[in-house]
Amino acid sequence: MGKKARLSDRTPQPAFVTLRDLPGTRVVFWMVSECPYCAGQHLHVAGNLRNTETEVVLGEVPAPCDMERTYVLSLPPRPKKKKGRRSERRERHEAWLDDPADGWGED
Ligand SMILES: [Zn+2]
Repeated sequence: MGKKARLSDRTPQPAFVTLRDLPGTRVVFWMVSECPYCAGQHLHVAGNLRNTETEVVLGEVPAPCDMERTYVLSLPPRPKKKKGRRSERRERHEAWLDDPADGWGED
């Protein structure tokens, strides 16, 4: 009683991050530019530049501003890139249509 029991209070909210490196070091970290809970910035160490490929992991982590909550580190959507990829795929598809399976085992 008295406590809000919304579903969203327990559901981890997505937190969009950008990958940053610390000048002068090999440390890289995820920067949450706008926390879904406090609207502030939070940093999460992602690893070292030497092994970013294996260390950079996104996912659910405890929110530094509220230890009872978690959020899900996610890369921000990039509509421009997605759009470009789609049109490229379309072009490829049309090219394929223009070039009917010529020479598919024909003598
Ligand atoms: Zn926060």
